[in-house]
Amino acid sequence: MKPATRSAINFLLLGLLPIIHGTPAPRPSDRQAGPPAYYQKIQELTARIEPEIIAIRRDLHAHPELAFQEKRTAGLVADYFQKLGLEVRTGIGGTGVLGVLKGGLPGPVLAMRGDMDALAITEEADLSFASREKVMRNGQETGLMHACGHDIHTAMLLGVASVLSQMKSQFRGTILFIAQPAEEWGDGAQKMIQDGVFRDYRPEAIFAFHVDDTLKAGYVHYVPGYSGANCDTFFLNISSEGCHGANPDQCVDPIVVGSHVVLALQAMISREIDVHDHTVITVGYFHAGTATNIIPKKAELRATVRSYGDEQRERLKEKITRTITGICQSHGAPFELDYQFGTPSLYNHPELLQAILPTAEAVLGGADRAIEDRPEMGGEDFSYFAREIPAVMLSLGVVPPHLEKTSVHSPTFMADEKAIGIGIKLMSCILMDYARKPAARRVRPFKTS
Ligand SMILES: [Zn+2]
Ligand SMILES: [Zn+2]
Repeated sequence: MKPATRSAINFLLLGLLPIIHGTPAPRPSDRQAGPPAYYQKIQELTARIEPEIIAIRRDLHAHPELAFQEKRTAGLVADYFQKLGLEVRTGIGGTGVLGVLKGGLPGPVLAMRGDMDALAITEEADLSFASREKVMRNGQETGLMHACGHDIHTAMLLGVASVLSQMKSQFRGTILFIAQPAEEWGDGAQKMIQDGVFRDYRPEAIFAFHVDDTLKAGYVHYVPGYSGANCDTFFLNISSEGCHGANPDQCVDPIVVGSHVVLALQAMISREIDVHDHTVITVGYFHAGTATNIIPKKAELRATVRSYGDEQRERLKEKITRTITGICQSHGAPFELDYQFGTPSLYNHPELLQAILPTAEAVLGGADRAIEDRPEMGGEDFSYFAREIPAVMLSLGVVPPHLEKTSVHSPTFMADEKAIGIGIKLMSCILMDYARKPAARRVRPFKTS
């Protein structure tokens, strides 16, 4: 339900109270107990560390590193955690870092994740701390850029660790601060899990931010349930003996066969897939041929397949394999199909989300500042954590005041640094509030085998 609708219903219900109970409706001040006292402390500590954290963000932004090469970034994170007095483990799943903060009071283990990697994009933003770093990609020199805001995610991770380590005596339980490599390659989270990031402490809930390139600072988007898609891929090679273009009866035409495949897959979505099962198949790569009058020996097709949930990805694999096999066989075309499951879909645990939304609304200053958004078909490897532990990712507005929107993965991506302090404050309050809930009011951890 949209927050606007929810508050409208609350308003109506409160208006009905005098009729139901015969007593006057409570004044707003009676209805709300007000934020806990530690919000003020979090606010003060955030304001104090904000310049330092913004300086770190700028340093990270000027020195971006590609997936699994985040050595400088990981070193900076580990040093920072060490200075805060956290228990630190490095080199998890490559360059991943874990910082463990133990509160002074008993309570649950919770986690926050920030990703560290950048993209092979040449920065065009006009910033004093714009990246000048270069890297060789496919034999060509290209720039390196934090174009997906992971510098901001890492900086906020440090900021929250700093704020809450200064409030240790008031904090219940333990927090894991996870600096993750290689989100852009889609396997950094999985590598950290396989490498035992939860070996010593297993969190019962995990939270993360991603920058939102459509929202201003001070707002967040949230999506209950699936918010990111399974990112699966297939590679199809269709073979032929090849022949003259004037004698097409002499060989299989892999271009014609491949074309049938492309169209049949689109028809399959509209005719075989439930309209409510979000599905995208994009054949983004179709290479074949060298001349107008030669039927080539090979056509290569590559596609991305997007969906939600394990069942749907399995169903799609079966349907796509069946369709391709049928078309190729009917044309007598030899083929090889390699179908790969990539990053799984991201599931935001709806109850966990409901449990933290009041905190988001209180910290941001109103229900209209935490806005329900539509799910996307993009990928996010935080999903690997979400398969292990109830998880919520919030999208944090970062659009600078002078822009209508900005765009992640673009050379001109820019963020409003005001969002950094807001994110630190918000996540600190979320962790603090959630840890104080009694076990019966927290989301039950998943069963582990
Ligand atoms: Zn990205
Ligand atoms: Zn990202």
